[in-house]
Amino acid sequence: MCIRITYTTRPICEPYDSATQVITLPAALSPAGAHLVVRALLTELAVIQPRIGARCHCGAAIRLLPRVPQQRRSGQVTHHGA
Ligand SMILES: [Zn+2]
Repeated sequence: MCIRITYTTRPICEPYDSATQVITLPAALSPAGAHLVVRALLTELAVIQPRIGARCHCGAAIRLLPRVPQQRRSGQVTHHGA
């Protein structure tokens, strides 16, 4: 997989950096929302997306890794996975 996903709490002006192939998503985004955004971005980059999940331009499935919390949140459980 070539495209990497990162999360940030800062404002995003360029969600996809073609030089580093990094997609930056807002940290507040849910995993489902992240999938939607990644798929939309990749579709814009002319990468045909499968019916489920997201796919890199090389054909590998893109796994949306569980976020690394950038700040401590109390009592919040993060669900991740499909
Ligand atoms: Zn790839």
